[in-house]
Amino acid sequence: MNGSEEPPEAYDYDLIIIGGGSGGLAAAKEAARYGKKILVLDFVTPTPLGNRWGLGGTCVNVGCIPKKLMHQAALLGQALQDSRKYGWQLSEEVKHNWESMTEAVQNYIGSLNWGYRVALRENRVTYENAYGEFVGPHKIKATNNKGKERFYSAERFLIATGERPRYPGIPGDKEYCISSDDLFSLPYCPGKTLVVGASYVALECAGFLAGIGLDVTVMVRSILLRGFDQDMANKIGEHMEDHGIKFIKKFVPIKIEQIKEGMPGTLRVVAQSTDGKETIEGEYNTVLLAIGRDSCTRKIGLETVGVKINEKTGKIPVNDEEQTNVPYIYAIGDVLEDKLELTPVAIQAGRLLARRLYAGSTIKCDYDNVPTTVFTPMEYGACGLSEERAIEKFGEENIEVYHSYFWPLEWTIPSRDNNKCYAKVICHVKDNVMARRELPLSERALCKGAQISGMYTFV
Ligand code: FAD
Ligand code: NAP
Repeated sequence: MNGSEEPPEAYDYDLIIIGGGSGGLAAAKEAARYGKKILVLDFVTPTPLGNRWGLGGTCVNVGCIPKKLMHQAALLGQALQDSRKYGWQLSEEVKHNWESMTEAVQNYIGSLNWGYRVALRENRVTYENAYGEFVGPHKIKATNNKGKERFYSAERFLIATGERPRYPGIPGDKEYCISSDDLFSLPYCPGKTLVVGASYVALECAGFLAGIGLDVTVMVRSILLRGFDQDMANKIGEHMEDHGIKFIKKFVPIKIEQIKEGMPGTLRVVAQSTDGKETIEGEYNTVLLAIGRDSCTRKIGLETVGVKINEKTGKIPVNDEEQTNVPYIYAIGDVLEDKLELTPVAIQAGRLLARRLYAGSTIKCDYDNVPTTVFTPMEYGACGLSEERAIEKFGEENIEVYHSYFWPLEWTIPSRDNNKCYAKVICHVKDNVMARRELPLSERALCKGAQISGMYTFV
């Protein structure tokens, strides 16, 4: 079905996709299968420290992929420790080298960037490394690295511009701190690190940095892993503390100063308690800000074409077909309001949208009960509602919660973390899973209406 037909009369393309990340690329490749003429614009605005990267978006370059590889580096360190108990005799002192790990990870990412370009070419999708901005109905301006502008028109548009790390707006934040957009290509070992924030990005990065042997402190404004089951979130936190990660709770940084230049240098962090009563100071080599991400929707000319955003969050509301309030403009991925910000979700939404637009499909993306994993040192997988949300939704009297502690077999010989793995199944009684109480926990989790939220290792 390749060999594209011509787009409707006056338009240059059938579909222009702004953003070549997880969602945009998936939609482009799928739409091209149906012979449509597609243009993908992808452009990375450099971080305040000047870092940029290739085609593929957040997940590939500064998200899931490097994160998971560095998490693996940390797990290997743990495996090396365990290995002695399994009979391995290691004669040399084992040390970790940040530069080697980062180079290997970046080389792999480079191969993925290349692979994406080839895949677009093979699918006859036109790709431009240029920044897209709406300039009129059905019309977009594409500005490349050198400031050269081109104008294109299309019958339809897809916004898949994702998000970028947020900065708190305190003195020294953009000058001296890094974000996850800088961490995975940092040319030197970050050393003693303060991680600010307490959600996915913060805890995962804190986890692998500690896992490769660094001194790591996490500064938490309120709770860990907001939105997740808090029983589970606290267990994750306790496990991280048991493994040497320090937590400063109910504090936020208010000023960052450089006291010594270098790679890494030394920074002084002044922080204030959230009740405003106490101020503390600390010295770190690196401050990693992981306080959330802002949608890239405010500088793409949406006001020119009348696409509504949530003014407070910058997110784009869409109907159940990923259509914005302007019928020829669609949106997918992290820019969407009230949807999960995960790569498989963006990919699935992109593919299904292309099939509905160009292949007569009626299947919509189902955003409910999407499983997710937090790659903290003890991995945590969850699907469905947290206990708090289940109680809110169904009432405490209609909920039954099953708990179980586990000790994975491979952890017994090194006597590691005895009974720290934990599963929790939250059942809605009215869904009649009670009759199946005799089932083992893992099977009950599969019953209709049951939810599981547990540490992933054994699920
Ligand atoms: P993106 O992948 O962010 O792609 C958007 C692209 O559009 C980018 O390349 C951007 O530069 C470009 N762009 C923006 N504006 C313009 C413009 N005007 N013109 C042209 N191009 C533009 N998800 C998981 O499922 N599992 C994980 O383990 C996981 N780990 C993560 C770890 C970290 C540290 C982070 C930050 C995120 C992680 N995520 C993970 C989330 C995942 O990366 C995102 O959900 C996913 O990348 C969203 O895809 P997207 O297509 O919406 O946007
Ligand atoms: P997030 O979920 O929005 O969390 C932001 C964190 O920063 C919260 O802990 C928040 O605390 C804190 N915070 C906000 N403003 C602050 C401030 N001014 N000072 C100090 N702390 C502050 O953001 P995220 O961790 O960047 O994750 C973004 C999305 O990426 C997630 O929703 C997820 O879908 C995706 N992601 C997925 C994975 C995965 O699948 N494994 C991994 C990483 C990211 P409060 O709770 O007090 O607000």
